[in-house]
Amino acid sequence: MAIFEELKSIGKVLQEAGKIEQYQQILGLQQQVLDMQKKIDDLETEKKELGSKLQLQNSLVYENNAYWIKQENKKDGPFCSRCWDVEKNAVRIKQGVNNPSFHTCPECETQVQTDPGFRPMFTSRKPPMSYL
Ligand SMILES: [Zn+2]
Repeated sequence: MAIFEELKSIGKVLQEAGKIEQYQQILGLQQQVLDMQKKIDDLETEKKELGSKLQLQNSLVYENNAYWIKQENKKDGPFCSRCWDVEKNAVRIKQGVNNPSFHTCPECETQVQTDPGFRPMFTSRKPPMSYL
């Protein structure tokens, strides 16, 4: 960092000349430069994260109570709509063991039915007499 090195060099001259008050001002400026550099680094990281979230946002499609990433020939998902809408967090929701059309979010535990046409089969129940 050129500014930092220049301030350091000026500081050294002031220190050697016995200008302690000015030297301390330079030390203060060096700290401010370091703080600003850290802030810039943090903002760069945040900018990258927002860029990738924006890219994801543009590829998400809301369908059957969940988000899906639709690309040319494939569909990825489902992702929890609550976690994306509230926190911009793409959380893959887990398929139910007994009912594959139900999914549960491991993060917020929201349950959704992703296949509106799915009807569970009650294999343990006997059919009504009229069906026999
Ligand atoms: Zn969730």
